[in-house]
Amino acid sequence: MRFVFAQVLALVLASAQYKQPPVVVMDPKDAIALVNQLFGAIQPALPENSYMPDALKEKINWMYGQQAANKLSFKLVTDDNGNLGVALMHSFYQNHAPVVEINANQLMVMVRIQERVRVGFNRTAKDTFAIVLAHEAIHLEKPEAFYTQKIPDPIIRKKTQIAEEFRAWRLTDQLIISELLKTNQPVPIGFRNLHEALKHCTKAPSCVAFEKFYSQFNLR
Ligand SMILES: [Zn+2]
Repeated sequence: MRFVFAQVLALVLASAQYKQPPVVVMDPKDAIALVNQLFGAIQPALPENSYMPDALKEKINWMYGQQAANKLSFKLVTDDNGNLGVALMHSFYQNHAPVVEINANQLMVMVRIQERVRVGFNRTAKDTFAIVLAHEAIHLEKPEAFYTQKIPDPIIRKKTQIAEEFRAWRLTDQLIISELLKTNQPVPIGFRNLHEALKHCTKAPSCVAFEKFYSQFNLR
């Protein structure tokens, strides 16, 4: 079984009220165009992105570099009908190379429904895309063997997954979200809530406050 890390984009995308992710009627061409626009907009070298913390720039550049070297690929999924849940992105290994899969349905839900942007995207969508991409880069610090390990016991499997999400979100918070907050950037609400929850997490490798926050959003 594939070891999949769902993302807490739920933070931003989901509300506790709905257990099933909404499905938008979308034109795949619109989703593809949106992803390309976002990839272009988050380029760290652009002068308008000077507000980005160094770690955010570094993780995005790492992703771009890996992709340019054919060591990593991006895959946009436009027809999953909500099967990826509320995760905006996740990463896995295929043929010994990492793949970052982008959930077009949730991307469109975020931009077109939650942010009510009919054409293009706004700052919240852009920063969310950038932060989640960086979060995937943090997951990919783990070796292939971690991703492809077989854990037969579902309880241990779940624990391992949550421990990895805790590690990756805590680093995302320390390196990126905290830095954006320090410089008074308009950090999307879900990430601000995560930042608050993680304040209760001082002892590794687990944290009840994070687990509560994480499970609240019906992630897989
Ligand atoms: Zn994650």
